[in-house]
Amino acid sequence: MQIFDQMNQYGYEQLAMFTDPSVGLKAIVVIHDTTLGPACGGTRIWPYATEDEALRDVLRLSRAMTYKSATAGLALGGGKGVIIADPHIHKTEALLRAYGRFVDTLAGRYLTTTDVGSTGRDLEFISQETEHVVGLPLSLGGSGDTSIMTGLGIYMGMKACAREVWGSDSLRGKKVAMQGFGKVASNTARHLLEEDAQIVVTDVYDGALDKARDLGIKVVAPDDIYDVRSDIFAPCALGGVLNGSTIPRLSCKVVAGGANNQLLSDADGEELHRRGILYAPDYVVNAGGVINAAAEVGMAYNPELAREKTERIYEVMERVINASKREEIPTALAADRLAEERLASVRDIKNIYRAR
Ligand code: NAD
Repeated sequence: MQIFDQMNQYGYEQLAMFTDPSVGLKAIVVIHDTTLGPACGGTRIWPYATEDEALRDVLRLSRAMTYKSATAGLALGGGKGVIIADPHIHKTEALLRAYGRFVDTLAGRYLTTTDVGSTGRDLEFISQETEHVVGLPLSLGGSGDTSIMTGLGIYMGMKACAREVWGSDSLRGKKVAMQGFGKVASNTARHLLEEDAQIVVTDVYDGALDKARDLGIKVVAPDDIYDVRSDIFAPCALGGVLNGSTIPRLSCKVVAGGANNQLLSDADGEELHRRGILYAPDYVVNAGGVINAAAEVGMAYNPELAREKTERIYEVMERVINASKREEIPTALAADRLAEERLASVRDIKNIYRAR
């Protein structure tokens, strides 16, 4: 990979690599953009097959965090960390504390939290070495489990889409096909069940399916989820699931879910638009987690503020829909433009003050 070319093309500010062989640590932090505030994003602990794969992942994820915080109206920039390790085998206190010392060298330009492979318990170790951590457990004065607000935000995004497509934001009787039934999906499902929506789920993990069955939810095999007759398809597991082979199988009118980077490419966003399927851009509707974490930055955690801002995802989604209709562009592109406009306007103000 031509790293500087890639960084210049997408406006990355900083790429930092850190190693401590004594504890087996190989970590990368990417700070994409700090125009709006310190770069915030979780630390992913994953056994990447190659360094190149880890680098690509952290670059892509950090940029998505900039767009997520920008559309959510937060005073946060975008960043992300990865540790190349198997979280089930290599995660030790020594490794996490060494990572915490690395994060500390960035002097608050990067705030870390949990992601795939890292937990609130891990953050406790990291926070022994640096104060630049958000999302610690509630018992330690942090904002706790992010997936509760993420689930609420996805539900609000679905309602805004329903209003556009069916003329009412009620989800009563609507059929929602959920891919993955982990933390985010189950927190979304809670709201859907309260509103008497019908849910069908799939997962690759039997424990998750048992949880769904206990709630009276119908379960299908992983690959069958794309063919379920549904009103809303909710990807809540992996990225890249909206692509040339899956989109033709969808019968829904709305796609809205929690997974990051759902579109395999920009062309897949265009294809959904062409087929008349309303796509709720992932980073718009799954922002509840970072909104929750932002409600502890520079102050004591304020859960009311987190809830209120998460509920505003409904309005943000409406703005994205309106921009998409006005400019006749896919919603994914409309959301990118909203984020870029906010970033540009704040950069302009900063430049004016610098020039004085
Ligand atoms: P999780 O690990 O709790 O749940 C993911 C579930 O997906 C698991 O049960 C897993 O078995 C299942 N799964 C994996 N591959 C699958 C497949 N091929 N088919 C069906 N199911 C599959 O994770 P989570 O916290 O619920 O996160 C889900 C997604 O939402 C991820 O993409 C994550 O990056 C994104 N996200 C999470 C948050 C948050 O607050 N946790 C915030 C924003 C975005």
